[in-house]
Amino acid sequence: MQILDGNLVSQATKDELKIKVAQLVMEGKKVPHLAAILVGTNGASETYVGSKVRTCEEIGFKSTLIRLEETISEYKLLTAIEELNTDPDVDGILVQLPLPKHISDERVINTIDPTKDVDGFHPVSVGKMVQSLPTFVPATPHGIMLMLEHYKVETKGKHAVVIGRSNIVGRPMSILLSANSNPGNCTVTLCHSQTKNLKEICRGADIIVAALGRPEFVTADMVKEGAIVIDVGITRVDDPSKKRGYSLKGDVKFDEVSVRSSFITPVPGGVGPMTIAALMMNTYKACMAKN
Ligand code: NAD
Repeated sequence: MQILDGNLVSQATKDELKIKVAQLVMEGKKVPHLAAILVGTNGASETYVGSKVRTCEEIGFKSTLIRLEETISEYKLLTAIEELNTDPDVDGILVQLPLPKHISDERVINTIDPTKDVDGFHPVSVGKMVQSLPTFVPATPHGIMLMLEHYKVETKGKHAVVIGRSNIVGRPMSILLSANSNPGNCTVTLCHSQTKNLKEICRGADIIVAALGRPEFVTADMVKEGAIVIDVGITRVDDPSKKRGYSLKGDVKFDEVSVRSSFITPVPGGVGPMTIAALMMNTYKACMAKN
């Protein structure tokens, strides 16, 4: 069994970007600039946005964090996005999800200029991804593909089972794994909350991508010997033994599944860091399209 080490691969990706940014500076060119909008004070969102901004600083990108009140109107949020759309210095825009209930995710995503859509959620980006055209691929599935590539994990012809069909993880993951590419070329089964006989489907999988947000859902009896297991889940579970009062749990019961698998991602330290690295790559790409 080999651990797919997200910390290691993301560090390598960030180091490469750091060198590229230093080169841009030497040539007197513009450095990538990521603008993030955070609405409200959701604890997990604060953590995610915080680490995105810190990573920008670490690799030499410019970043802007716009904090808006939980009660902000949708109109004001859309106006803030439009301002970033027209700001020539801003290369990438992300609006941290989830948004408060009174704001439509769809209208927010559709307002972002597709050339700055580094999260890859805009329908233009999604359409291009489906057709395997160059575009911004959502950071989490993109990060997983980068990790499979880094470890030269053979995916061609394999049966991949993706659990979860969200627009940000499961569905794009199923599209990327089924594409005629390397990694890719899998036969994909996309499972969700209405799937019957999930256990049997998983038992037939060469690759399992668990992205459902149910702690330790995937157990050893669902995993074929030698399977490749990618754990996307991150759930905060109460843990009085921890100073912060919670620990992070993946969707896979790591201890028992890891002994059956050929490759597995840990939580934390697997898909999470790769998501940030992929976002940084998208931001660099957005900048280079103009540089
Ligand atoms: P979501 O809630 O939008 O989607 C969950 C999906 O799982 C749904 O499509 C649902 O149909 C499916 N599902 C729920 N219960 C199921 C069940 N019992 N059997 C089969 N399918 C079931 O979640 P999401 O935004 O896709 O995130 C999923 C998990 O990944 C969460 O834990 C989230 O925190 C985590 N996540 C991690 C990263 C990262 O960087 N590591 C990024 C995004 C999301």
